[in-house]
Amino acid sequence: MASSNPILIIGGGIGGLTAALALLRRGLDVVVYEQAPVLKEVGAGVQIGSNGTRVLFALGLEASLRDLQVAPPRRQLRHWRTGETWNWFDLGAASVERFGTPHILMHRNDLHGILVSAIRKLKPDAIKLGMKCAAVTQSGDAAVAQFATGERAAGDAIIGADGIHSQVRQCLFGASKAEFTGCVAWRGLVAMDRLPPHLSQLLTTNWLGPHGHVLHYPVHRGELMNFISIVERDDWQVESWIIEGTKEELTADFRDWHPDVHTFIENIDTPYKWALMARGPMNRWSQDRITLLGDACHPTLPFLGQGAVMAIEDAYVVAACLQQYRSDPSRAFARYEEIRKERTASVVRKSHENRRHVFSPALANNDELAIEVARYWQQEHVKERLDWLYQYDATAIAV
Ligand SMILES: Cc1cc2nc3c(=O)[nH]c(=O)nc-3n(C[C@H](O)[C@H](O)[C@H](O)COP(=O)(O)OP(=O)(O)OC[C@H]3O[C@@H](n4cnc5c(N)ncnc54)[C@H](O)[C@@H]3O)c2cc1C
Repeated sequence: MASSNPILIIGGGIGGLTAALALLRRGLDVVVYEQAPVLKEVGAGVQIGSNGTRVLFALGLEASLRDLQVAPPRRQLRHWRTGETWNWFDLGAASVERFGTPHILMHRNDLHGILVSAIRKLKPDAIKLGMKCAAVTQSGDAAVAQFATGERAAGDAIIGADGIHSQVRQCLFGASKAEFTGCVAWRGLVAMDRLPPHLSQLLTTNWLGPHGHVLHYPVHRGELMNFISIVERDDWQVESWIIEGTKEELTADFRDWHPDVHTFIENIDTPYKWALMARGPMNRWSQDRITLLGDACHPTLPFLGQGAVMAIEDAYVVAACLQQYRSDPSRAFARYEEIRKERTASVVRKSHENRRHVFSPALANNDELAIEVARYWQQEHVKERLDWLYQYDATAIAV
């Protein structure tokens, strides 16, 4: 930027921290304001497809990721009631061969910690904690954030990376309308040494069923199994990862499912639940010197496992645009939006559409499920459905 004022990032989640690292590596000054008093992510896993690792590697994180990641050799499918297993598609070396970078599974806290230490190496005091942003404003040559503490900070530009309930989005465009999808997501972690050998393999497993879906995959060097399940119900509509549920409730949601699913549920310490809400695409993300990134502007249902990866791609592109148009943040943000809107809107739309493939009432019938596996879940269909996602190279986009 022409002046030496920093770029302010509101929110120190995966998107905000990736943006901070990408900007610092380009020699631009940043300050991240995070509302939490301590730096940590929720205790859950996150899948990072090849399109995400491509960005993280370009930011110099390959070696630190390798210490903590799991790179599974393949994904498999299982039948919700009989437990029958089908190989689905290859990952591991096959992903690297096809897309150049691997598909990895991370504990969110591990990924978060890696980003924090890379940022602090470049700027030790870049992240300010306990700073809940209450409002953002702008004048001709500055953007200003006001915090719940009463403090203010001014910078050349502001990036709102403050997640699904974004305050920055609300200041710019008003409250967003969310529609309940009729689905609740459960998450929990299980210590791998509590699981029998056939359930502690370093693979990603999707269970297909009639009114819900179960997914589990290893994280944290394979020491923990991340469990996620999604079930159709309409009596819970709070969109937050920190609300605890009970094992009894989770057990009841999957009562007719195979005993292996219940082995996971019994071994989760604390299950958490999140009501899945859908939102339509926003017409604009930016106003002059202030923009949005990640879930703040395109929250995505988890049926493609790409929400955090979209935030990572956004972060790389917004940093490239700010470097390219250093003296004109408004132009930088207009170009960033232009590059990113169509792709993120496709991911939001296709994630929504994918829901009907991971569970549908017809799958209650054993024969129907086998037919569906043969029809929809074969490797060549997977290529059609997923290659466009994994091939995208945010690091090579002309800004
Ligand atoms: C069940 C489920 C499974 C998922 N699995 C995957 C997956 O496998 N792969 C994937 O890519 N995505 C996945 N996602 C999506 C992913 O979790 C989100 O897209 C991702 O976390 C968005 O990152 P973010 O940085 O934009 O927002 P967040 O992670 O929400 O971070 C926002 C940050 O801003 C802070 N903040 C909020 N308000 C303020 C404020 N006013 N002032 C200051 N700070 C503030 C918050 O404390 C937080 O640290 C999944 C989502 C769900 C629900």
